[in-house]
Amino acid sequence: PVVMTTNTMNGHFAAVGDQASKEHFEHGIQVIDEDKVFNQNLPAYLQQEGVIRAGFNYHLISVFGSQSTGKSTLLNHLFGTQFGVMSEQERRQTTKGIWMSKNKRENADGGGQKMADNILVMDVEGTDGRERGEDQDFERKSALFALATSEVLIVNIWEHQVGLYQGANMGLLKTVFEVNLQLFLKDSKNIPRSLLFFVIRDHLGVTPLSNLRQTLLADLSRIWSTLSKPPGLEQSKIEDYFDFAFVALPHKILQPEKFVTEVQKLGTRFREGYNDPIRKGLVDEQSEPILLPEYHRRIPADGFPVYAQNVWEQIESNKDLDLPTQQELLAQFRCDEISKEVLVAFDEAITPLEEKQTSASKAGSPVVLAELGRIMNSARTDVLKNFEIEASRYHKGVFKRKQAELAAQIDSRLKTLFLGQLSAAHKSGLADFSTAVTNQVKAGQKKGSSYDFHAIVSTEKKKALSRFEEAAQSTLIEGAAFSDYKQELNLYKKDLDGVSGQLRKDEMRRLASRIERWVRTRLSESVGVEFNKLGSGRGGSGAPADGEKPSSEKDLWDRIWAVFTDTVDMAETRFTERAKSFDASEDEVDVGLWRLRRKSWGVLKAKIEEECSEGNLLLKLRENFEDKFRYDEEGVPRIWRPTDDIEGIYTKARESTLELIPLLSRFQHSKTGSPPPLEAWIGEAPASVSAADEEDLAPIGGVDDEEGVTLEEEMTVLSDAKRQDLIKRFRKTADGVYVEAKRSAIGGVTQ
Ligand code: GDP
Ligand code: MG
Repeated sequence: PVVMTTNTMNGHFAAVGDQASKEHFEHGIQVIDEDKVFNQNLPAYLQQEGVIRAGFNYHLISVFGSQSTGKSTLLNHLFGTQFGVMSEQERRQTTKGIWMSKNKRENADGGGQKMADNILVMDVEGTDGRERGEDQDFERKSALFALATSEVLIVNIWEHQVGLYQGANMGLLKTVFEVNLQLFLKDSKNIPRSLLFFVIRDHLGVTPLSNLRQTLLADLSRIWSTLSKPPGLEQSKIEDYFDFAFVALPHKILQPEKFVTEVQKLGTRFREGYNDPIRKGLVDEQSEPILLPEYHRRIPADGFPVYAQNVWEQIESNKDLDLPTQQELLAQFRCDEISKEVLVAFDEAITPLEEKQTSASKAGSPVVLAELGRIMNSARTDVLKNFEIEASRYHKGVFKRKQAELAAQIDSRLKTLFLGQLSAAHKSGLADFSTAVTNQVKAGQKKGSSYDFHAIVSTEKKKALSRFEEAAQSTLIEGAAFSDYKQELNLYKKDLDGVSGQLRKDEMRRLASRIERWVRTRLSESVGVEFNKLGSGRGGSGAPADGEKPSSEKDLWDRIWAVFTDTVDMAETRFTERAKSFDASEDEVDVGLWRLRRKSWGVLKAKIEEECSEGNLLLKLRENFEDKFRYDEEGVPRIWRPTDDIEGIYTKARESTLELIPLLSRFQHSKTGSPPPLEAWIGEAPASVSAADEEDLAPIGGVDDEEGVTLEEEMTVLSDAKRQDLIKRFRKTADGVYVEAKRSAIGGVTQ
């Protein structure tokens, strides 16, 4: 397997370094030196010549031929290059290794025919064996290298060498054919055709070019027939692999002017033409363009240095040269480089957003990033577009794979951003929703007006949903692997419902405490009224017959229970109406009512305790007693006379009042003497009661059995000790009143 060398990885697009400054490239660049070492400055050279970004818009031409046949001279004339040429005096090889130069006559206009853009010419060391002895190694290697890279191989040959089958040129051509077969075997489909362009020098004109061509073609066929062809290719013809073109140039020294015009004419043929399926292996017309698309090696300019170097290294180390593999390796290498390049701009746009999102969510306050969708979309489009522009020129399979890798890589980052955005929108949406509802409720409460909780919640919910959808919709990325937010939206809806459920619970609590306050006020008044009636010992009209207590005293608890249950009934109706208005469920209403009844009972108990405090009771008993003692049956104040049965009246009044104490000490029905049906009235706790619902509820004796308090105890208003104490203190008070009456009676007589 071929391993891509990495020593060319850097500097592809680097600025031209010191080493590779302009003067170093005065004569072009020595791609491969006499020691067969590949030049690392090729990228810099292509950069300097403005070719590196040309994509496929460049051409590579090589020149072959025996040494000192005027190859460099020809190239310099054709392309305005400055390859070294041998001076007329020294007969010494000047071109060593392989040189490359860009066409300097690109803008020359030869009779309206402009040359193609970005022609790169390679001047390959000639052969003669003079300098390299019998070493054919370099010749073979450079032929292979030229074939692997060049569209057109110029074969430079003297006219007088034509037909000399044994000549050095024929050896070279044999080598070219052999190495081409070798390449062809590796990949018969993708090895492009090449043009062998014979330039016949010092053409005297005696023999017409067509004859020279015939001779050469015959020689070529002869060479071809002597090659041992691999199985399957025995019948193949030379024309299956090469196109041929021929041109003859006049003698440069004998006919210098004609030489120049002919070379100029030749120059115009270095322009792009069209593939012609009819033409069979022969480019004939003397003015036809020779740069046909089918000759192009399809190595993008920016990948050429790496490709050329790796091809050379394969050749140089005598490994099997496998161009398809080389092209795939090149594609992988370049696609990775291009990925890195295009990701720079992507990172610039996306990294700050990623950092913002990460740090905000770490801080626990995720933010919805403005413009996120727009930035993500354009960053994604740009990165993929830029990648495609550069990388699609490489091996299609590799390009597609690398493109998918790149898309997956950026999409995973974008998806993280997208999900982060959704989660921020989720979190802030719930918080905003809750705040908006709470604020409007508060404002409603402040105004004292009744607000429509249901309407507030449903309006805010709609807003919250559309805000979320907006955020999500604007962050969607066209073409990315993630394209919907259904799941997230559902989750958001669910949580929104959760929050509004919580808000409704809060509202229920507020409603409950409003109703409780109302119950408290009502009971305070109405229960107070009932107790106050005790102050008047006469109750109803007239004196009670057979020692019966007046109804206002005896049925005190009946009336309190009735007032209490009526009040709570009204409260329940109000509560139910309101709660239903904001969609509280049956269960929630049931729990609310159950709580209301329990709390109301607590309110009543507190009110009773307040009324039955020692001071209050003493005052009421005294009033009750005085009413009975000081007023006669008609309600007229008594004026005590010594003859009056003060003691009898006193005893009767006192005993009557004292009867109140046992009555007061226990909440019970006046006729049955049983406690009120509290447990049945409160009812069973609804099944949906939660721990939170029960948290602030005081235990009720007899209802909550587990509390160890009985209903009897719950209904006890005055304990025995309290009763005794009360009796004692009341008697003292009553005694005082009696003594005072007695005194006033005696006083009345003395007056
Ligand atoms: P290269 O070794 O093939 O590159 O040959 P050079 O370009 O260095 O030229 C070798 C010699 O041939 C030089 O002395 C040139 O002046 C000479 N020369 C160049 N072109 C021609 C030509 O068209 N005809 C003849 N007779 N001599 C030429
Ligand atoms: Mg030369």
